[in-house]
Amino acid sequence: MERRGRIIIIGAGIAGCVLALHLKKEGFSPVIYERVNQVKDVGGSLSLSPNGLRSLGTIDLAGDLTSLYGYPQIGIKRFTLQKLLIDRLASEGLRVEYGKSLKTIQEDADGVSAIFSDGTQVDGCCMFCCDGIHSVGRSQLFGLQPPEYTGLTQTIGLSPKPDSICDGDFLNVYGVNSFMVAYGYSEGEIAWAATLPEPEQPEVWKGMTNEEQEEFKRRSTFTDWGASIRQMMETTDRIIKVGLYDRPALDVWHRGRVLLIGDAAHPTSPHLGQGANQAMEDCAVLCRILKKHCSASEPLDILKLTLVFEEFEKIRIPRTSELVKSARAMGAVRVVAGAEECTARDERVRHMLNDGTSIPASYARNIGTDL
Ligand SMILES: Cc1cc2nc3c(=O)[nH]c(=O)nc-3n(C[C@H](O)[C@H](O)[C@H](O)COP(=O)(O)OP(=O)(O)OC[C@H]3O[C@@H](n4cnc5c(N)ncnc54)[C@H](O)[C@@H]3O)c2cc1C
Repeated sequence: MERRGRIIIIGAGIAGCVLALHLKKEGFSPVIYERVNQVKDVGGSLSLSPNGLRSLGTIDLAGDLTSLYGYPQIGIKRFTLQKLLIDRLASEGLRVEYGKSLKTIQEDADGVSAIFSDGTQVDGCCMFCCDGIHSVGRSQLFGLQPPEYTGLTQTIGLSPKPDSICDGDFLNVYGVNSFMVAYGYSEGEIAWAATLPEPEQPEVWKGMTNEEQEEFKRRSTFTDWGASIRQMMETTDRIIKVGLYDRPALDVWHRGRVLLIGDAAHPTSPHLGQGANQAMEDCAVLCRILKKHCSASEPLDILKLTLVFEEFEKIRIPRTSELVKSARAMGAVRVVAGAEECTARDERVRHMLNDGTSIPASYARNIGTDL
């Protein structure tokens, strides 16, 4: 391959892997550069809605998932999805280079280079930064924007499914100053996530130590929330706590030959369960536009790339900006204190769940008309 013809993807998370598979389908052979040396079973679960599944369907992966986990709204352990994607990359002959942490981006008239923390460098015709919420690509392009703490944390757990919860149940539990969601993510197992107002916590998907888990269970009021929830909390074998932060929306996602994708472009709080789904929508939309203007047999020059990136931003920025705002608002709606506030919240939520045009319903049901 011509050195300058290489398509560079930074990050082998959900967006990076899905993008590589979409590009492969269009005849391109991108290479992924991933910071970690090895992908491990860390993190919790993701909720995949029809719009995300539709993107996976385009690369012939939805069938594998839906036959395993059901359809159309499914829960899946993040690691299971990432592993499935990485296995598919290997079977498609696509390369992932591990231990490559992007440090700097350099661009000249002929192409773009990624310089990694180990001092190595790769050159390419374009670069897609799929490097998540703490994106180095984003700060290289647009400077560091310190995130703002929302005052909420999310505590996530994976537990054996209590007998009282049926397959396919999607539990939303509203309490005083707290909210919990729980859904099955594989046979016999359930993922739960509790949103609480708490002092600032780091924005990392890191598991608690055994001692921290025991302390969380001891202090948690969730164990008073009925038998199913008590059982889930008592039997959980992994608890992760992450602080929820806001970042200002960007009005462009590209500079020259470099484009941000997924959380790097539009990090969102998790209250609408759309982070991974929107990242996967990005990939499908980008490749649809790329196919319209470019061909894998011709060089991706700056004029074509600019055309593609601008069209992509025109479609994706309004949709994701609205989503980020709505997700933020949803957190504030759900977590309230005081008897009157809780009663008003319960009424509002009841109305929202029955209203097919409400924001959560519209994102969950919207199967990506722009795909
Ligand atoms: C370890 C982990 C666990 C997670 N667990 C959950 C969860 O339980 N629930 C949930 O809702 N969301 C979770 N997320 C976030 C979720 O995956 C994303 O919000 C969503 O899927 C969008 O995906 P993304 O590919 O844009 O970002 P991510 O999935 O975060 O992927 C980013 C990838 O880029 C890599 N990377 C970062 N910096 C660099 C760099 N400088 N150079 C090269 N590579 C880099 C990361 O290692 C990662 O593989 C987790 C993310 C991570 C990284």
